[in-house]
Amino acid sequence: MIKNFFDSLNVSYKEDISLKNYNTYRVNTICKFLVFPKTIEELKLVLDYLRENNIKYYILGNGSNVILSMDYYDGVMIKLDNFNSVIYKDNLVTAGAGYSLIKLSLDTIEKGFSGMEFSAGIPGAVGASVAMNAGAYNSDISEILKEVTVLTPDNEVKIMKNSELEYAYRSSFLKRNKKYIVLDATFELQKGNSEEMKELVEERKQKRIASQPLDMPNAGSVFRNPEGGYAGALIEEANLKGYNINGAEVSTKHANFIVNKNGATGKDIISLIEKIQKEIKEKYNIELKLEQIIVR
Ligand SMILES: Cc1cc2nc3c(=O)[nH]c(=O)nc-3n(C[C@H](O)[C@H](O)[C@H](O)COP(=O)(O)OP(=O)(O)OC[C@H]3O[C@@H](n4cnc5c(N)ncnc54)[C@H](O)[C@@H]3O)c2cc1C
Repeated sequence: MIKNFFDSLNVSYKEDISLKNYNTYRVNTICKFLVFPKTIEELKLVLDYLRENNIKYYILGNGSNVILSMDYYDGVMIKLDNFNSVIYKDNLVTAGAGYSLIKLSLDTIEKGFSGMEFSAGIPGAVGASVAMNAGAYNSDISEILKEVTVLTPDNEVKIMKNSELEYAYRSSFLKRNKKYIVLDATFELQKGNSEEMKELVEERKQKRIASQPLDMPNAGSVFRNPEGGYAGALIEEANLKGYNINGAEVSTKHANFIVNKNGATGKDIISLIEKIQKEIKEKYNIELKLEQIIVR
């Protein structure tokens, strides 16, 4: 029994828990087990057990880029919140996979390091953000990442250099190869002026507050911008702002955001996405590609 296994390992876990507070859409999926390994060894043992027993699992970061599509997740969600160390060495900073990217960005700015300013508004964890190649303002993680420590599909700890990670726009080897798990990441930064960086971050924050529905549950941009255009502009032109399916609504503030206005499920969000894709295809013959990840 999985519970006996978790108990014997003394690993921290929750059973039949709502994931509402673990995804930024605030979708109320119930998860059979949510587990919080404390060490690499514990993580390895958990993965061995799950794989041997054919139990499905998912590595969940801050849940700020996922759509939980099911009412009940009959498996194990693994959270690396305890992988939260931060170590500075000269101009290098190594952060655990569970550490908040926003916090890391602000910490480095405070210490007078430049490079992470772009990430001060991205509410992800370091591990997922490295895999997703998160970015903003024409910069992304791949520009500052030196190397990552990963757990390979064979449960081996390995260091992978930036050049091995096949980085491209919001994409990487790690995103495509889901059995690799980021344990920590080392970023290479430059000396910078804290005060100037703080001003820049504050200015951008105010712009985001003015243009994005940050006061409502959402998971960032829904679609990638199609070549030469903006997904939000197309959706707005198609008169879909405010379109609502069971509480999932195209934001009236920014059309490339879907907000969970009133108890929407993952299925409602996906229905709305499909509706938008259909309309945009019919009206403009453009296929909008999803930026968010559907967890099935
Ligand atoms: C208000 C708002 C604004 C946003 N702005 C931006 C933006 O400007 N730029 C941008 O790029 N994104 C943005 N996002 C999206 C999101 O924050 C980023 O994609 C972020 O990097 C996702 O991190 P997460 O920890 O929430 O990942 P999750 O959503 O939890 O997971 C994303 C994927 O990463 C995988 N994953 C999780 N942990 C690991 C790990 N340790 N190793 C390997 N894979 C892992 C998951 O399995 C999943 O496939 C925004 C989101 C919101 C809500």
